[in-house]
Amino acid sequence: MCLQGRLYAFAGAGRSNVISFFVCWKGIVCLLVDSHAHIDTSRFSADREAVIAAAVAGGVTRMIDPGCDLPSSQMALALAKAHPGVVYAAVGVHPHDATTYNEEVRRQLRELAREPEVVAIGEFGLDYFRMLSPREVQREVFRAHLELARECNLPCIIHVRDSHEDVMELLRKHGQGLRGVFHCFSGNVAQAEECLSFEGFMLSFAGPLTKEGNALPEVARMAPLDRILVETDSPYLVPRPLKVRRNEPRFVTYTAQKLADIRGITLEELARATTANTVRLFGLGEDHASETL
Ligand SMILES: [Zn+2]
Repeated sequence: MCLQGRLYAFAGAGRSNVISFFVCWKGIVCLLVDSHAHIDTSRFSADREAVIAAAVAGGVTRMIDPGCDLPSSQMALALAKAHPGVVYAAVGVHPHDATTYNEEVRRQLRELAREPEVVAIGEFGLDYFRMLSPREVQREVFRAHLELARECNLPCIIHVRDSHEDVMELLRKHGQGLRGVFHCFSGNVAQAEECLSFEGFMLSFAGPLTKEGNALPEVARMAPLDRILVETDSPYLVPRPLKVRRNEPRFVTYTAQKLADIRGITLEELARATTANTVRLFGLGEDHASETL
């Protein structure tokens, strides 16, 4: 007989911060947080509730859904309201959609950010790989999100792709004192060190850590244990060795296990650390009533 049902109810009440694992007939199951999962997207329309339930049953008891534009930010918040203490929302405009950002969107994002289920501004950033919005527009929208995060006293979820130098430059100019995460970090050790020089920021690892041919294992080894998070970026970035077409929050375990193996610690230790880091960064289970709205 498994105790997860009782602890799920406890997590649902938002008081689970102190629990890092639960005991089930199979043994110890770690409690992980998927710090980045786009469960609001249409890829989950047919079975969204089942996907959330499967994650919780598998020990991934909490997840953060970041918006990519205004409608998906609204959807993320609706999901968070429907799943209190399990789904949390972030609101923002992805660099691919930067051209949809305007003053009215900004006003509405700021409204959404007042809700207690909204724990971050994002995802936003710079993507010069696909360049779906002009570079200057992306930079301007990036700066606007930093301002929004400051006004709302919320952490930032930052997307960086082929844009490390510009992100560093804009953070130095406009991001002093802010906190957040470089989501799905994909750079090298030197870039990771530069990112970590921003004291309030963490590195988040996703499915690419489980694949060959990148510098991520080195980064995963050097990053301080209190500065790392795990995520799926569902429905994208399926981790190895899975052969499915769609990623889901419950699969964050594969990235967490890989991270634990690289660092030479147990999955339990890794889960305890990354969950504590996520809870601390995003204030999960806390009311952000102290924000300066
Ligand atoms: Zn994302």
